Amino acid sequence: MTGNDDEPGQILAGLDPEQQDAVRAVRGPVCILAGAGTGKTRTITHRIAHGVLTGATPAGQILAVTFTARAAGEMRNRLRILGVAGVQARTFHAAALRQLRYFAPRVLGGGMPELIDNKLRIIGQAAARCRVKTDRNLLRDLASEVEWAKSSLASPAEYVAAAGKADRMPPLAPGAVSDVYAAYEELKSRAGVIDFEDLLLVTAASIEGHRDVAEEMRARYRYFVVDEYQDVSPLQQRLLDAWLGNRSDLCVVGDANQTIYSFAGADASYLLDFSRRFSGATVVRLERDYRSTPEVVGLANALVVSLPKAARLTLVGQRPSGPKPTFAEHDDEPSEAASVAASCRRLIAAGTPAAEIAVLFRTNAQSESYERSLSAVGVPYIIRGGERFFARPEVREAMVLMRGGARTADPDDPLVDAVRDILSSAGFTPGAPPAGGAARERWESLAAIVQLAEELIAAVPEAGLRDFAVELEARAASQHAPTVQGVTLASLHAAKGLEWDAVFLVGLTDGTLPIQYANTDEAVTEERRLLYVGITRARQHLALSWALSRAAGGRRSRRRSRFLDGLAPGSGQPAKRSAKAKRPELEGDDAALFEELRAWRKATSEEEAVPAYVVFPDTTLVAIAESRPRSLAALSGLAGVGPRKLERYGAAVLTVVGGLDDTSESAGPQARKNL
Ligand code: ATP
Ligand code: MG
Repeated sequence: MTGNDDEPGQILAGLDPEQQDAVRAVRGPVCILAGAGTGKTRTITHRIAHGVLTGATPAGQILAVTFTARAAGEMRNRLRILGVAGVQARTFHAAALRQLRYFAPRVLGGGMPELIDNKLRIIGQAAARCRVKTDRNLLRDLASEVEWAKSSLASPAEYVAAAGKADRMPPLAPGAVSDVYAAYEELKSRAGVIDFEDLLLVTAASIEGHRDVAEEMRARYRYFVVDEYQDVSPLQQRLLDAWLGNRSDLCVVGDANQTIYSFAGADASYLLDFSRRFSGATVVRLERDYRSTPEVVGLANALVVSLPKAARLTLVGQRPSGPKPTFAEHDDEPSEAASVAASCRRLIAAGTPAAEIAVLFRTNAQSESYERSLSAVGVPYIIRGGERFFARPEVREAMVLMRGGARTADPDDPLVDAVRDILSSAGFTPGAPPAGGAARERWESLAAIVQLAEELIAAVPEAGLRDFAVELEARAASQHAPTVQGVTLASLHAAKGLEWDAVFLVGLTDGTLPIQYANTDEAVTEERRLLYVGITRARQHLALSWALSRAAGGRRSRRRSRFLDGLAPGSGQPAKRSAKAKRPELEGDDAALFEELRAWRKATSEEEAVPAYVVFPDTTLVAIAESRPRSLAALSGLAGVGPRKLERYGAAVLTVVGGLDDTSESAGPQARKNL
């Protein structure tokens, strides 16, 4: 489990000729432009290992960065398996935090300022100051917009122009957003706290503005590696530039077709223009897809043929042929979820481990149906994007017990038995509690710890409790969660960089993917890339599905995602889009929401002593119930919602809508998850 004796030659032997080119380019700028599953992450981890083992790039001088804590943990673990220790592999935020803590006394004249991980409170105060009436949804949208602005290096004064240029759809008039943004910055600096964007900004500025800091920093880190570089924002690029100074020992890896964080400021042009910026860069293109069957690869290729400009790479599947991707249309969501759960069960019965199966969706709110349907058939699941394994209370508790046990244990007890014994005092039972619910989740965590003990014994037969406690600490420090035996439920965003034997892409209707509020061409294209990310997670089995109505027995008014036109069988004549003008009959949840809206309207009209239709006519309430706007911008796009009504009733309407259907997939505070 720990390092092995891989010689540099063996490291190269695990790579194809193009991947080897990237590894051999030890110095200078290197850019690996390649599609999904072509071994980008594998190549950079091998490149780091090769450089360390040959002595060309000392481990302590390498800084490898990526964008999510999960991906950084994955990188550290792959390095550990390759027998390489001492390389810093972190997220941008974690790297900056570490550096700023070190430099803060010198450059900020005091200690490290408090880091706030949630903007909503101060955004709320800022909005109040600007006399903007808000609710939770609007606050969240404002926080996202401020995050975008800061990630794009646009100051409050520059915001209006920048937002226009980027085709943003601000939640308020751009001028008002700019005011709130300015007030937010002022309140924050008066309170002496910094947010996650400030963390990067202040770190970059400390290096840029202090020669001694820059020199120390640049003496410490000489070789830089960035995975998933298509997702770099101007702010992160600025920090990277500060680290580099005028040097060019930088290796970037990315796939422009997987740019899915544009809404948060990601800019793939840094990747695509890399060789223009660094003349003489070694550019490596990888086309062989080692992850997926030719059937899955074929579908992925077909999906991106229509993508504009992005360096279009055609993938060539390397794995043996497998089952054809399946497409299934269901009458309603419960039937879709039940069918997916049944398929998961069949796969597991046929030998696919549950941990090798994923159900991926567009918004976190979709998760619940699948949690229910999987529980109903007794299939365990985990929710990716939920709490990290080593952060879970039961895991922390188990580690404390393990440390205590290591001091008192009988060294002759077999390790796995000893671990089971100790965990039984934390509630671990030999049999699993029923699937679903907190008890099962807790049990799965503890079972995963037992499995780790089994893995340790397999690798190091003489290992005892003390070794195991050390192993757990090492894993926790590298943030690498063991594979819990459960089907993964995750949003498409959270699935990036990962892979499973079987992948279910669910809820593929227009309005969900592309998501309703994607109403510029660029936003729709980003949604298409999101589907590309989803498809390319599958090694073997890929199943795509959608449902025509939300609730059982509801009106079948939905339409299959337009992205499947030309890909799914029977694509010749896509169902007609439901005519907006015709007043539809509402059913299921839509009807329930309509009634809620009517109740709100009645109360409002009584309060204001005006007839109900003056607040909003029925047709507008129907449109709101059908489209469930989640921002003022989306609401303002509906017939019958003028600027005055928007100002007067907008927040209240969003509250009514949000209360029923909280699609909490937010464009919002990403950074917090990225430490
Ligand atoms: P993504 O774009 O999704 O992040 P990636 O390009 O980073 O994908 P990896 O995750 O590095 O791809 O590799 C995909 C899979 O292919 C992994 O299971 C990896 O071990 C395997 N793989 C990559 N290169 C090779 C190779 N040369 N020989 C055998 N297997 C390989
Ligand atoms: Mg990768």
